[in-house]
This record gives sequence, structure tokens and C-alpha cells, in this order.
Amino acid sequence: MRRAYLDHNATTPMDPRAAEVMADAQLRYPGNPSSLHREGREARRVLEDARMRVAEALGVAPREVIFTGSATEAANMVLQGLPEPTPARRRVLASPLEHPCVIEPLERLEAHGYTIDWMPVAPDGRVDIDEIQNRGGDDLLAVVGMLVNNETGIIQDTPALIDLARRYAALSVTDLVQAPGKYAWTNEESGASAFFLSPHKFGGPRGLGILVVRDGIAARPLIIGGGQERERRAGTENVAAAVAAAVALELAMEEVDARSRHRAHAESRLLDGLATAGIRHTVNGTDRSRVAGVLSLRFPGHYGESLLMNLDLRGVAVSLGSACSSGSIEPSHVLRAMGLTLEENYSSLRVSIGATTTDEEVDLFVTAMAQITAGDDRD
Ligand code: PLP
Repeated sequence: MRRAYLDHNATTPMDPRAAEVMADAQLRYPGNPSSLHREGREARRVLEDARMRVAEALGVAPREVIFTGSATEAANMVLQGLPEPTPARRRVLASPLEHPCVIEPLERLEAHGYTIDWMPVAPDGRVDIDEIQNRGGDDLLAVVGMLVNNETGIIQDTPALIDLARRYAALSVTDLVQAPGKYAWTNEESGASAFFLSPHKFGGPRGLGILVVRDGIAARPLIIGGGQERERRAGTENVAAAVAAAVALELAMEEVDARSRHRAHAESRLLDGLATAGIRHTVNGTDRSRVAGVLSLRFPGHYGESLLMNLDLRGVAVSLGSACSSGSIEPSHVLRAMGLTLEENYSSLRVSIGATTTDEEVDLFVTAMAQITAGDDRD
């Protein structure tokens, strides 16, 4: 059966150019980068070269780049490693639109003397920046917010958050996971004290995260043992994955405009297709500030979960909000924060188009949706 993979925000198929480099590095450099012999030194050189390329692409110093096992680990490392709270400074201002890998560590911090101050969110899916201007203060320890939301694709006003943190000598943390290849960010948008990326979201390998922690900011290790990554993340480094991540990042940044045009074309085809087929739908959140190809779609009168299962039976892969909450019937916390009713929340699906999505895949989605919403369900 033909299939349409429209879940690129969960993970992207690996870019063959990155996959080729990864296979080559895996075979060619068998040494442990911590070993002193020639094989070890070669693996070290390749790893440090990958770090340098990542740093250059991101405009940071190589020593500021830490390879972790995932973006989830990177987020945990930063948030669980925040400076200890004091009675005078213990407030963390955070967006409730974050991925669970940020929300859950923050909730844990609450039990350790921090106060988490959740930002208000406007119905357009953006944190309410005007309102947040009143949330400064000398008690501010950190400001945490993402650049591109994984469920809605909505771009947040990250420079305003970083600026607020700076004004009160607080730290800033940005989740940049959904940005590479979708959005060409500015230096202001990547100017946080710490930020992180996930190569498998932009054609790189799964099982590697990239954490950037600026000079002067302590990065407390979460995983201790062998002292790798300048004593910040123990464990033998995944050399081949780091090399592939560097290639995937460079390509994503070089090709961001072409990929965005491709996604925008596929998105209009999809939305036009739904309209022509008379399928009632609404895009959740604003269109003014959204990356092309990421659609949180609401289908009134239908259950997102049932749509997802029926689409899968017809060869189409989509998701219910974030992948980590798929499989559970919890409503999306992102749509809830945007003020959607429970019914609206449950009737929503996430469709995420990728750089490799074809017109045929889009058409397969529209045809399947037309059959399902016409009551031609298979179950
Ligand atoms: N942050 C965002 C916005 C995400 O979409 C994801 C993955 O879904 C993550 C963080 C976690 O990334 P990883 O899969 O590398 O742990």
C-alpha cells in the first residue's frame, strides 16, 4: 500500500547525505575518542571537527557545544542544573507551550524550592508578550521558552523573553528543536544563555542531542562517570552520529528557504484539497507567525484519535499533538493553554509536512480524509 508520512515533527527520515557520512564514519573510525592510541586520536579529531562545524553553523564557540543523547536529556541537564534557588531569587518564568521534556523537569523543580511562574498564552498560540513585560523582577532566576512550537508550528517572540531575562540578570533557556530547516532564526532568537537542538528533527540521526551552554554559565552534569564532554556529560561519545548531525545541520540551514517553499506549496495543496472536498476544518492558532507545513487542524464533529487510526489504516501517518503524548487520551496541553475547549482539543490532529513530502502524499491524505469524514470508515 502507498503510504504518506506526514509526521515530520515527530521525526524526519534521515537525509541520505547525512546517513552516508554516518555509515562511513562508523566504519572508518572504530576508536574510542578517549583512547590515547592512534585509533582513539583519529576518532577524537573527527568528533572535534563535527563539534566545530556545529558551533560554526550555530555561531557559538566549540567549547559551548555539548553532545547529549537527546534534546530531552539536554533540557533536563539545563533545567535540573539551574542555580540553587535562594529566598531572593527563585522564580522561573516559563511558557506552558513547552514540550514535556521541559514541562516535567520544571514541575520537579517546584518540589525543590523554585517557583514556576507560567506565562499567559493568547488564543493565537503565542505567549502574551505584553503581559509578560510585567513579570520581570529581581527574583527572576530564569526565563524558559521555545522558538517554534512542535504542535502548532507557531513562532514565539523569543528575543523578548531573552531580553526580559537579561534585564533582570536572569538566565534564559530556549528550545530550538523544531527550528532547523523550517525557520531561519536571527542571532537575537538564538541568543539565550542555553539552547538545544535535536538532529533527528532535521534529517540527522536519532539518539543525539545538541546542547549549547554559553561561556560563564555552569553546566551541571546530569550523567557522571568518564568525564567526557569536558566533565559535563559522561559516556563514550557517538562519533558517527555527531558527524552526521553536523552535516544535517549545515544542510538544514543552507536549504531552509527552499525547504520552506516546498512545505508551503504542500501545505496550500493540502488546505485547498480539504476545502475542495468540502471537509470542514480550522487551523488552530495564527497563520501570521507560523512555519510552513506544520498544521494543527481541527475537524469539528470528529475525534482526532479516531481520525488518526483511520488515516493509518488508509496509509497516512499523522499525530495527535506531540508524539510523546500519542497513545494516551490526554488532551494536548498546548491547545488547552491556547484556550481551546475540550471538544475542540479532542477534534484536532497534527499534520507535519517535510522537505521530502510529495504531492501524492498530500493527495492521499485528502482522499483518505474525504472517505473517513463521509462515514466510509473501516471500523
Ligand atoms: N522539544 C521539542 C519542541 C520537540 O518537538 C521534541 C521532540 O518531539 C523534543 C524537545 C525532544 O527531542 P528528543 O526526541 O531529541 O528528546
